[in-house]
Amino acid sequence: MATTASDVLVREDERRLRDRLEELLPGIAAEAAENDERARLPEARLRQLHAEGFDAAALPEELGGGGASHAFFGEVVRALAEADPAVATIWTMHLGAAVGLAQLTKDTLGDHYARALLAGDRFANALSEPTSGNRFLNPQQEAAPAPGGHTLDGAKRFVSGSEIADHLLVNVAIDGVPAFFGVEPDETISVIPIWDSLGLRGTRSQLLSFRGTPLPAERRGGLPGPGHRNYVGAGLAGISLGIADAALAALVAHARSRVILGRPLAEQQWVEFAVADHHSRIEAVRAYWRQALRHADEGVPEHAGEFDRAKLLANRVAVDTAQLAVRVGGASGYLRTSPIQRHLRDAEAGQLMAYSTEVLSGVIGKQILGTENTR
Ligand SMILES: Cc1cc2nc3c(=O)[nH]c(=O)nc-3n(C[C@H](O)[C@H](O)[C@H](O)COP(=O)(O)OP(=O)(O)OC[C@H]3O[C@@H](n4cnc5c(N)ncnc54)[C@H](O)[C@@H]3O)c2cc1C
Repeated sequence: MATTASDVLVREDERRLRDRLEELLPGIAAEAAENDERARLPEARLRQLHAEGFDAAALPEELGGGGASHAFFGEVVRALAEADPAVATIWTMHLGAAVGLAQLTKDTLGDHYARALLAGDRFANALSEPTSGNRFLNPQQEAAPAPGGHTLDGAKRFVSGSEIADHLLVNVAIDGVPAFFGVEPDETISVIPIWDSLGLRGTRSQLLSFRGTPLPAERRGGLPGPGHRNYVGAGLAGISLGIADAALAALVAHARSRVILGRPLAEQQWVEFAVADHHSRIEAVRAYWRQALRHADEGVPEHAGEFDRAKLLANRVAVDTAQLAVRVGGASGYLRTSPIQRHLRDAEAGQLMAYSTEVLSGVIGKQILGTENTR
């Protein structure tokens, strides 16, 4: 494919933002422990990412954005996650909801939502519900018919960044079929503060209660389809990979500084072997995920299945590496003052986020075995 002037501009913009990200990361990392301790939303950092142009870059060109590649988006998510996975998770969900909503309403409100993203509005995915569990794209809550559309009575849970959201991407069942809406929080929606979690505490992924919330017909979008960017699917593996990188770095720092009977812990052979094994696995997952991102940029349809596999692999390698860090860290790595315990708690959350490692294993296993596959 020939390189166009706009390709060159996109790449130059990506390069500028990559350099800027490198400057921002130490400050983001320095706040991670306190965001975790206080379950504090990293709102100022998220708004800074917007002000620096990261949101605009990630908006597809046909929606008036910079049209950055999936590869660029993925690398930003991974780097943010290594610094503070709460920032990476909310940024992923924010873009997933904003771009998703703009794509689903492309023929009606698409421009409105794209302009709102560019203006700095915040977006959140209100998709998971108490009864559908991990199958968050199969809503069980039926919307009630109302003049001009429908209304929703029910709940959505674990909505990352919902407390600062100006727009929610909400799904409901209408006559048993999934339907997506853009919803602007009003007095019918309340936040139930459940989020006192083990890990990813800074995401403040709260429960939202809906009481007769209007779902006007003009706010209804279509269904996700081929050609739509799926930033949540693209980013989830990157969040876990960033946590794995952070856990490995904390492990290495501890092993090099801890002296046992006169020799650094890093010189013990079991540590060398274990580090070689985990580092190789992290690099293998990174290479596979980058291939999936490249395939998404090239429009290769298999990229969706590759994102699933990359998530499964990244979730597992993050937990395994954080567990190894706990072993290498010994009791001092087990103290609250060590970052190692935080990486372990954050790594566990990656497995729970939809689709969970169990659901993905079922989907992929069925594909391989040629047995029934419903998602
Ligand atoms: C940090 C974090 C942030 C999140 N952010 C958002 C967000 O912004 N927006 C949003 O909508 N949601 C969000 N979620 C919700 C998440 O994506 C899942 O949809 C939700 O966690 C699923 O519900 P549950 O955890 O109660 O698990 P359950 O679905 O109750 O799962 C319990 C267990 O059963 C297994 N299981 C569930 N269903 C199946 C199945 N069909 N086959 C096999 N095993 C199954 C699971 O793997 C798990 O082991 C977030 C979750 C977390 C942890």
